[in-house]
Amino acid sequence: MSEPSSFDPATSTFLLAGPVRLHPRVQQAMAVPSLNHRGEYFHEIVHEVRGLLPLVFGRTGHQAIVTGSGTAGLEAMVSSVVGREDKVVVLSNGHFGNRLEKLATRFAKPVVVRAEWGHPFDPAKLSAVLSAERPKAVLAVYNETSVGFTNDIAALAPAIRESGALFLMDAISALPGLPTPPDDWGVDGIVVGSQKGLAAPPGLALVHLSDRAFGALKPQTFAEDLAEHFKSIEKDDTPWTPAVPLFLALREALLLLKEEGVEARQHRTHRYAEMTRASVKALGLSLFPEERYSSDTVTAIRYPEGIEDGAWRKVLRERHNVVVSGGQGEAKGKIFRIGHMGVVTEADLLAGIAAVERELHRLGKVSSLGPGVSVFLRLMP
Ligand code: PLP
Repeated sequence: MSEPSSFDPATSTFLLAGPVRLHPRVQQAMAVPSLNHRGEYFHEIVHEVRGLLPLVFGRTGHQAIVTGSGTAGLEAMVSSVVGREDKVVVLSNGHFGNRLEKLATRFAKPVVVRAEWGHPFDPAKLSAVLSAERPKAVLAVYNETSVGFTNDIAALAPAIRESGALFLMDAISALPGLPTPPDDWGVDGIVVGSQKGLAAPPGLALVHLSDRAFGALKPQTFAEDLAEHFKSIEKDDTPWTPAVPLFLALREALLLLKEEGVEARQHRTHRYAEMTRASVKALGLSLFPEERYSSDTVTAIRYPEGIEDGAWRKVLRERHNVVVSGGQGEAKGKIFRIGHMGVVTEADLLAGIAAVERELHRLGKVSSLGPGVSVFLRLMP
């Protein structure tokens, strides 16, 4: 007889690489009757949210909220800033770099610079490609969620800046958990997803453009025409019917971020990442990327020999009520991922590590119970 499942979505320890756990205040913010999206009350919400966006991007600029997932935000940025005849260089070392390439193929002429998944790009190689190709824009993923890898953008930014290309960044799972791109990175476009470090539900994309990128606007799409989005948000409005409850949730999530402070959020995210990395290593597991590139928002862990992805995540879910992510694309079946961004708590992570440890022990992969959890406990303040 199979064991009864203890999985309960209402109470699960939710450690996905996004969407992430929601704070009760964010959940409650959505429980409202229908609102007139062209009425004064909703304009005030948009006004407040708009005023909070610089907190996320770490700068002011042309900023808007697109209804749609992170991909819609990327599509809005790319299709609005580059033209079909423009050459763009896309950096790809993971599933989302690959997706950026596919997206760019629809709206421009991409030249792809690749690195192995979980490995950094060579700045000299990038320089050589930029000199040879003279692209209109460079597209890069700040935090490659698929393999728990943070690209060393500081090492790549000088070459991009010197080339004069616009620098458009997928920061969907990066901000606000990772340090904000400093001005000297010369970033012209940034997209952040609502469902990652902001800890709002999925369905909204936050988009920032510099004056330079704004000046280059020549939109190729209709619903995601950023010129329309910027024009509307100036009037505390949206061009089309927005996802009203998600705006209410985003406002609450942004207020939580403001109350905590962006630096404190980043510090906490880093600390949780260190605790997670140390605990899984103490269990004899290895990280997918080299540790110095390991992401602070999501940890990617290689499966030891003999563990099957589907069965592993099922047992965590059904015996322990713990939800983690699997791998994607070519990393599918090779890794599982623990998200530690947004408003996840130490207690959540401790429950996750305990479940991983219990099941590794049951499978004979660790000889005694205790090493992972005790490392985690010792790193607690
Ligand atoms: N880019 C990165 C780095 C991501 O992590 C994700 C989602 O996980 C996406 C793009 C796609 O975002 P969405 O699924 O919200 O469209």
